[in-house]
Amino acid sequence: MTDQLEAPAIDGSSNETTQILIVDDDAHIRKALTILLKIPGCETLEAEDGLEALQIMESRPGIPLVISDIMMPNIDGLELCRRLKSDDTTRDVYFIMLTAKEGVKERVQGLEIGADDYVQKPFDSHELRARVKAGLRIVGLQDELKTKNRILHQLSITDGLTGAYNHSYFQRAFEKEFERARRYGRDLSLLVCDIDNFKGFNDTYGHGTGDEVLTNVARIVRSITRDSDIVARYGGEEFAVLIPETPLETAYQVADKIRRAIAESPLVLEDSRLDITISIGAACFSGTNFGSRTTFFNSADSALYKAKHEGKNRVVCV
Ligand SMILES: [Mg+2]
Repeated sequence: MTDQLEAPAIDGSSNETTQILIVDDDAHIRKALTILLKIPGCETLEAEDGLEALQIMESRPGIPLVISDIMMPNIDGLELCRRLKSDDTTRDVYFIMLTAKEGVKERVQGLEIGADDYVQKPFDSHELRARVKAGLRIVGLQDELKTKNRILHQLSITDGLTGAYNHSYFQRAFEKEFERARRYGRDLSLLVCDIDNFKGFNDTYGHGTGDEVLTNVARIVRSITRDSDIVARYGGEEFAVLIPETPLETAYQVADKIRRAIAESPLVLEDSRLDITISIGAACFSGTNFGSRTTFFNSADSALYKAKHEGKNRVVCV
């Protein structure tokens, strides 16, 4: 019992305490386990049956490892395991069963309902600590994977240059929001925005400057819209903004605020100043006024075309 265990970081930060929940109706066993599991970076909690364990798991979310007896009053170890593994918030908890030597049937049952490992009673202290250590290692790896998946997902829906959502994410969001607006008769506004004379910037000042223009415009659009609005880079210099639960008048105000903010934020280069303007077409779907997403989008797009035609740097509503 002299080996020092190092608890792996559960959420990527190394100074967080990892909690281990010990569940047993025998106070002596809980005490023995508490002493055994004095691991640097770890804190143990105790519950005397499955019911108390569930209460603790609920009130202190994020406990990564449970070591539990099987035979207990109220809720036994198998039922505790089953409930933790069938709940989305606790499904990834590493569950170690403490079973009697002759408890083959319980062990098999436990593994079948999702327990990750078992230790036989009376337990060998070295084995127990080694298994807990292995469990924490797996939990740490799982957590790393989850973080990486989150990052990958974020990358897969984002436009790399501007940080706005990309075209394919926009399409999915548009489909979802359109259906929701149709089903519940809610307002869904759409802005189709296009930076004026963008090709000229690229041709005259180079693509680096063109990228800066795009990034600035995206930043301004995102700063003016709400978190619940969807700002996407639709194409080259075109952005689409979905504004749920919003009538056309309000969408127009948002669009004009965007237009003014962009016109008032020139891009300052070493020896010149680039005035940037944007044209916006706005439309609102109220559940019945457009037959499909395509006609809805096209009408906002025609309004944009009209804004361009009428002299740019303006908002036209359908
Ligand atoms: Mg017991």
